[in-house]
Amino acid sequence: MSAHIFIAEDEAPISTLLKYNLEKEGHKVSSSENGEDSLKSIKQKMPDLILLDWMLPDLSGVEICKQLKRDKKYNDIPIIMLTAKGEEEDKLKAFETGADDYVTKPFSQKELNARIKSLLRRAKPLSSTDVVEFKDLKIDRLAKRVYRNDKEIILGPTEFKLLDFFIKNPKRVYSREQLLNNVWGENIYVESRTVDVHIRRLRKVLNVSGLESLIRTVRSAGYSLDN
Ligand code: CA
Repeated sequence: MSAHIFIAEDEAPISTLLKYNLEKEGHKVSSSENGEDSLKSIKQKMPDLILLDWMLPDLSGVEICKQLKRDKKYNDIPIIMLTAKGEEEDKLKAFETGADDYVTKPFSQKELNARIKSLLRRAKPLSSTDVVEFKDLKIDRLAKRVYRNDKEIILGPTEFKLLDFFIKNPKRVYSREQLLNNVWGENIYVESRTVDVHIRRLRKVLNVSGLESLIRTVRSAGYSLDN
């Protein structure tokens, strides 16, 4: 699977090595050493995936990630944050900005390759598919119908959007803020408690008795489609 990968990294040795290794894997690579240029290049020529250093001169990786994930035009591009920080708290912070994955320097190229591959695989085909399945759950996006165990489930419009968003990346944990931004939209003011209310409703209809529970609460982090 070859893709266009953008590297935003100010440490030249890391960037050079990454470029070398990724090209060896068959990817097309472009890069920048500072934040403003990175954001400009990414917007000009949308890459398939971004490797984003946490700390960059002028505009930080965290800020770039937030800006891209807030924008409907770019928020589908998978982002892997590269960082020297290894604290659990920073990891959560990275996910809060909307990053799709996170590696701590020094990382193994092999591990990074595996993560890149997995993100590329799930980013591509799903977005254009009309019928998506996860376990015994099936969403028909065109007809806006949901089935569990082959029985139709009736969802409200917000619950449908929530589920449609979750099913793009099953098992991935989303914070309330990420759910608000992606399901309700950027400029709409809603309290994060609203998310809990709709999750509760979604769960109630999805968790048909006798079947496994599908929406998992991850303490102090958010929710994921899981079981
Ligand atoms: Ca840096």
